[in-house]
Amino acid sequence: MLIKKCSLSDVEELAQLNKQLIEDEKSDNTMNIEELKARMHGFLENDYAAYFFMEENKIIGYALVRHTSNPMYLRQFYIDRNFRRQGKGRAALKVLLKELKTDKIDIEVLSWNEAAIKFWESCGFIERSRYMRLEKSEKIMVSACLLGQKCKYNGGDNYSEKVIEYVKGHEVIPVCPELEGGLPVPRKPCEIVQGLVMDKDGACKDKQFRCGAEICLKKALDEKVSIAILQSRSPSCGVKQIYDGSFSGKLIEGRGIFASLLSDNGIKVLDAEDIE
Ligand code: SF4
Repeated sequence: MLIKKCSLSDVEELAQLNKQLIEDEKSDNTMNIEELKARMHGFLENDYAAYFFMEENKIIGYALVRHTSNPMYLRQFYIDRNFRRQGKGRAALKVLLKELKTDKIDIEVLSWNEAAIKFWESCGFIERSRYMRLEKSEKIMVSACLLGQKCKYNGGDNYSEKVIEYVKGHEVIPVCPELEGGLPVPRKPCEIVQGLVMDKDGACKDKQFRCGAEICLKKALDEKVSIAILQSRSPSCGVKQIYDGSFSGKLIEGRGIFASLLSDNGIKVLDAEDIE
């Protein structure tokens, strides 16, 4: 196998190969050929050099190397789809390292590209770091007790595996409006009685509930949350049903103080029990 250093006149061919590499490794890079050409041009004019791998005068792959790093950084490495599983990748790596006069080089592999990870490991590469990205599509506010915080009136929680699974990959803003309103754990159970929040012993806790709900609403607006997942039936967080105020366990349709406030301010609320 031969190796040939590319020049700026090879940018078109390199961009085509780069496009195939992006497709094969299922990258989320959406650049079109013209954009890839411009990017490749920039690479070659700066810290990068590209190389074609050739057999019988045919280009069968390429590599793009940042030669100013120490060790050098192999940013792109591609073997044409028709030449895979024939030892060409290994042979190409060998001629590349010889050309670069090094036996030390860094690469990055997309975590989901298992075939590539196996290939590089079989060539002797060892994982040294994990490249991670923060990429949240939305911020989700969640009743803290659903995440396992022991903020329930009786000192317990409402930990929900389904909710935890649902919010994975998103930024989670946990809140407990009752604690924000200054109520302790444990505390007497409360229900909404004729529009006012009362505890089981008849003490009015309306002020604390509404104050806590306002604090959490402010947080939701400041953080621009797109949705709130709230604990079912709570006098603060209940989304579809709440207890009827008789402390007899009877449910009625209605919302808790916090769920209502969020909803009135345009924030979508979701009952934790509706999470699939
Ligand atoms: S107020 Fe909401 S977050 Fe706090 S314990 Fe009750 S249901 Fe959970």
